[in-house]
Amino acid sequence: MSDPSPSDPSTPAQRLAQLRAAVPTLQLRTDAEDLAWYGVDWTRRWTPAPLAVALPGDVDEVQAVMRWAHANRVAVVPSGGRTGLSGGAVAANGELVLSLQRMNKVLAFDPVDRLLTVQPGIVLEAVHAAAREHGLAYPVDFAARGSCSIGGNIATNAGGIRVLRYGNTREWIAGLKLVTGTGELLDLGRGLVKNSSGYDLRHLAIASEGTLGVIVEATLKLTDPPPDTQVMLLALPSFEVLMQVFTTLRERLQLEAFEFFTDRALHHVVAHGAQPPFDAVHPYYVIAEFASGSEAQEVQVLSAFEYCTEQGWVEDGVISQGGAQAAQLWRLREGITESIAACVPYKNDVSVRISAMPAFLAETQALLAREYPHFEVVWFGHIGDGNLHINVLKPADMDNAAFVADCERVTTLLASTLQTHGGSISAEHGIGLVKKKYLASTRSPAEIAAMRGIKTVFDPAGILNPGKLFDA
Ligand SMILES: Cc1cc2nc3c(=O)[nH]c(=O)nc-3n(C[C@H](O)[C@H](O)[C@H](O)COP(=O)(O)OP(=O)(O)OC[C@H]3O[C@@H](n4cnc5c(N)ncnc54)[C@H](O)[C@@H]3O)c2cc1C
Repeated sequence: MSDPSPSDPSTPAQRLAQLRAAVPTLQLRTDAEDLAWYGVDWTRRWTPAPLAVALPGDVDEVQAVMRWAHANRVAVVPSGGRTGLSGGAVAANGELVLSLQRMNKVLAFDPVDRLLTVQPGIVLEAVHAAAREHGLAYPVDFAARGSCSIGGNIATNAGGIRVLRYGNTREWIAGLKLVTGTGELLDLGRGLVKNSSGYDLRHLAIASEGTLGVIVEATLKLTDPPPDTQVMLLALPSFEVLMQVFTTLRERLQLEAFEFFTDRALHHVVAHGAQPPFDAVHPYYVIAEFASGSEAQEVQVLSAFEYCTEQGWVEDGVISQGGAQAAQLWRLREGITESIAACVPYKNDVSVRISAMPAFLAETQALLAREYPHFEVVWFGHIGDGNLHINVLKPADMDNAAFVADCERVTTLLASTLQTHGGSISAEHGIGLVKKKYLASTRSPAEIAAMRGIKTVFDPAGILNPGKLFDA
């Protein structure tokens, strides 16, 4: 990886002319509408201002763009489905957006290794469908499945609703092809089950948020299809019983998922068109999915439900009878992010070890009640993974900058609570722009220095997603 040439003082128009000359086949978009569309992710907090949007059709074009960007020191923002919630794919400072959306094909399936090789722009739902066609499953799953890309999933180490059983995206990546900040192509992992030959650079690329390279191909592990399942929705009287219900269900059932949400979250999903599950309103809800089908499993399910009810942990409950009802129940949890999007939520996505969850929950609940008496706070999360999503909703009449400033003040306090409990400021959404000022609450100075050093090796000119994760 060579040193960059000196900075080029050309104008945006001259730069684009240079890029067109360097990569004549490249699709480039510069219409205002495209710049606005491709310059933002789901945060919609920054005003989009990209130089242009490049839509390469193959790996050669990605390499050519990166060589040009390296030589001319042009900042590049790798871009997938832009469903990210941390500002990672935002281009607000004249960067070139490098959208992988046209590179969206399944390239190969290997039945012996049970591996599926795909291009980075393929949407998660299409990966699920491709795995199903071969009688197998790709188990990472969450509500943005219809629009997020596998490249974005890998770049954020996405989690979702089945982490409890299957782990994060990282567990499912058998190989990656990565184009670095100098345009070199690295072939990492190559689908090998065993490979003890030094640093595993594939794992550096996972969760690197587009700061080390552009993922141009991924080889995904597939697994057996999930068992037949049922879904249970429980209404709980208090936060305190949440972990007890989780521990009980995990001990007694083969849990596939365990998620929680509050009454306020349910309120928004129902206002968005979902069916209310119960007649009465309850403060907290749990949705659990578990293997079911055999008579023995059904007995276990009923006995677990009765046990929780007898302990006074459950005020009401429903168990799905068939796929349609299961989907209806899941909609109550999966519809939350979309149902509150119009309220411009400020999002915290935090994690602690599961064992630290009860103490962390109690402290966080007190902190938020004290600091946010004036804002509506919607809680939900993957409680079985120690991951909590705290969404603060902006009052309609409040200025966005003042709202964010107030939320950031409270996030500083939350970050310090997290530090006490050994947690992370980002469980699954990434650091991006939103959380970079809190990175030091989760990573030591020595770790951050090592991360900066690694960035310099992969991207010596500092052109890959600059300003995301940390400042140079
Ligand atoms: C309704 C909703 C529900 C969600 N639920 C979850 C959830 O349960 N769990 C979860 O983890 N996330 C969730 N998310 C967040 C989001 O969907 C994930 O972060 C997802 O992985 C982002 O994928 P994307 O293709 O949209 O990436 P983008 O938003 O386009 O990009 C995200 C980051 O990846 C980088 N990137 C994208 N493509 C590449 C590439 N090919 N090479 C290198 N870097 C790249 C970008 O530069 C950026 O830093 C949710 C979002 C929404 C809107």
